[in-house]
Amino acid sequence: MDQVSQTSIEARLRNLVAAATRTLNHLGILGYSGHISARLGGDARGEYVIQTFDQSRAEVTPGDLVVVGGDGNLLRGRKGAKPPDEVYIHTEILGARQDVNAVFHFHPQVATLFTMVDGVDLVPVDNHGIRWASGIPVHPVPAKIADQEMGRDLAETLGPHFAALMRAHGAVVVAESVETLMIDAIHFVENAESMYKASMLGSVTPLSQADMAEIAGKMNRKAHAAKLWDYYTGIAVKAGALPGEWL
Ligand SMILES: [Zn+2]
Repeated sequence: MDQVSQTSIEARLRNLVAAATRTLNHLGILGYSGHISARLGGDARGEYVIQTFDQSRAEVTPGDLVVVGGDGNLLRGRKGAKPPDEVYIHTEILGARQDVNAVFHFHPQVATLFTMVDGVDLVPVDNHGIRWASGIPVHPVPAKIADQEMGRDLAETLGPHFAALMRAHGAVVVAESVETLMIDAIHFVENAESMYKASMLGSVTPLSQADMAEIAGKMNRKAHAAKLWDYYTGIAVKAGALPGEWL
């Protein structure tokens, strides 16, 4: 692949990650220490774009993002820039899952509550929750994922699934693209909040496998994600939280 195409792949991915970061932060989902990573394509498939450790997620720009290698070490970035401490969440999952091109780690309070109560598992309850039909495993380690081995253990807990909860800590959501990842993250939070609220009304009826198969048969994931990407980034642009020229 020539240098120009590789450069344009990286430029586009930087725009997408920065836009998703600003949008999820604007929606109150990402928070001060959430991070999104994306696999660079082309000749740099083993390299990943991610936010820095300390930059405000409300102010991140495409040029502020760093590129790390499979071991989590910084390959490219501004002087003094440092990847997040938990970069190994991303590198180990992206290394283990070739079907995944984007990973989001965040600390959703309501979803994390489900790791604190015995016998109450987070399961799909609303229609977009079908993304997690195969299950949402809970990683038992509550500490920060601070090295490759801890990252590998988390990737093992995640297995072939599309989200995992991390006990008393947060969650990880994975997808095939940055756009679908952002929409999955919004639906993940909605599903957890629906289940939490429904449980206050009475006993919750999760979606059955048959329900989920029926919903999936009538859903076009790509078209749905594209529509909601435009909707949510549009809200962020209108609010002044996201420069429209990145889209
Ligand atoms: Zn964390």
